[in-house]
Amino acid sequence: MHIYPHISISKMMAIKSVTSITGTFAKKLLPVSSNAGTYRRYSNQTSEKYDIVVIGGGIVGSASARELILRHPQLKITLIEKENRFARHQSGNNSGVIHAGIYYKPGSLKAKLCVKGMNLAYEYLDKKGIKYLKSGKLIVATERQEVPTLLDLYDRGIQNGVKDLQLLEGNEIRQIEPLCKGLQAIWSPHTGVVNWAEVTDSYVQDFTECGGTTHLNFEVKEFIESEDAEYPVIISDKKSKSISAKYVLTCCGLHSDTISVLTGCPEEPKIIPFRGEYLYLIPSKSNLAKANIYPVPDPRFPFLGVHITPRVDGRVILGPNAILAYCKEGYKYTDFNMKDFKEIIGFSGFRKLAMKYAGFGIKEMTRSIFTSLQVKQVQKYIQEITSADVETGPAGVRAQAMAKDGSLVEDFVFDSQPGSGAIGSRVLHCRNAPSPGATSSLAIAKMIADKMENQFKFTIKQAASTEN
Ligand SMILES: Cc1cc2nc3c(=O)[nH]c(=O)nc-3n(C[C@H](O)[C@H](O)[C@H](O)COP(=O)(O)OP(=O)(O)OC[C@H]3O[C@@H](n4cnc5c(N)ncnc54)[C@H](O)[C@@H]3O)c2cc1C
Repeated sequence: MHIYPHISISKMMAIKSVTSITGTFAKKLLPVSSNAGTYRRYSNQTSEKYDIVVIGGGIVGSASARELILRHPQLKITLIEKENRFARHQSGNNSGVIHAGIYYKPGSLKAKLCVKGMNLAYEYLDKKGIKYLKSGKLIVATERQEVPTLLDLYDRGIQNGVKDLQLLEGNEIRQIEPLCKGLQAIWSPHTGVVNWAEVTDSYVQDFTECGGTTHLNFEVKEFIESEDAEYPVIISDKKSKSISAKYVLTCCGLHSDTISVLTGCPEEPKIIPFRGEYLYLIPSKSNLAKANIYPVPDPRFPFLGVHITPRVDGRVILGPNAILAYCKEGYKYTDFNMKDFKEIIGFSGFRKLAMKYAGFGIKEMTRSIFTSLQVKQVQKYIQEITSADVETGPAGVRAQAMAKDGSLVEDFVFDSQPGSGAIGSRVLHCRNAPSPGATSSLAIAKMIADKMENQFKFTIKQAASTEN
């Protein structure tokens, strides 16, 4: 597990007086820090009180809320989401691939939780009758210089415990995918596709059926330290809604840095939004590929490269690319938010990365503007796909965690501030859950639940753990 080094809140904060929002308790405490966030402290006026509040109704928050209530049905748990439905962001705008766990550094959380998560996911999908396709995946080397990386990937997959991986020669590739050409390929038969938004909704349904409650249209904007020792955290949207919690889990994806600051925890790792745009194959050409076809990824980046993915709904998507988004939820070129943009370019880590990979960024933008160049990338694998066969597809925005030195944070990151102020010590943050976060969601949820139990030592008597 990655634990980010934290500066103790008490050291960083000066205490100054402010007026509370209720007006009733005039002089209260406001911690101030240059690096970490701020929160206020005032009397608990809220009516809704929860043992655990999970913030963020993507697949990670939903899976975690579900796991927590399955293990502790007697706890009062609620799931808060700022949108009017679940899986509105990354969890509903992705490639839909059930990854097998090939790419990830052996021993990393990604490697462990993806392999475990894939098995849990298939069990879950079977049990719930959610449609998926075990369509398999080819990672194809089309040029000689890609072969060593392909062979390294194969070794990684084996080390990670990915089952039934095979190395194929050119003619064997065609036996699996007749139109696909390449020098050598990895065949992963257990890779599949599913609609992760549907899976998220199913997790939420499990959660509510076990007694959990949900709050949609609730954008958390403030954490306030309460004088109620039992429910010390007040969570508010700064307008009309506020609820109290004993413990909090945040799974806010693109906003995980912002939410961390609001709890008095550090901003880093910073989240930089990268849009991934897809093309659709026109429906009459959907028969050109049956398996997932992936390039050999550039090892410098955590992105897997433009791939061909036949989805469960019968459409085939080509993508995604990786373009800097000008705001956290920048799904289109025209989506712009000055505050987000200033934060991105003001972050020294981003400026370092941009300088280092300016060429890559320009190439990606050019390919985004000229569809024919994106088509050229997939023609390396299936020559028969032409510009006339594609149309504009969906887009997703990746929450890419970045350190101050410009390095991309690759692994999952979960952290908190045990021993700090009343809020920081009651919160666990999911700071970085990029791909294969959806595949890994049930395994991540188990790890988060274990971590919350260990760290917060739930005082309420625990029920026996219920399996998925
Ligand atoms: C283009 C793309 C392709 C991908 N492909 C795959 C793939 O094929 N397979 C795979 O396994 N993974 C894939 N991933 C990764 C996967 O989608 C993510 O790992 C996963 O969705 C992360 O889930 P999450 O719950 O952490 O984040 P999100 O789904 O982004 O959820 C975070 C939620 O928090 C809410 N929120 C934020 N701030 C607040 C606030 N202040 N108050 C209340 N709510 C708030 C947001 O509205 C959002 O709903 C892909 C991702 C992208 C972007």
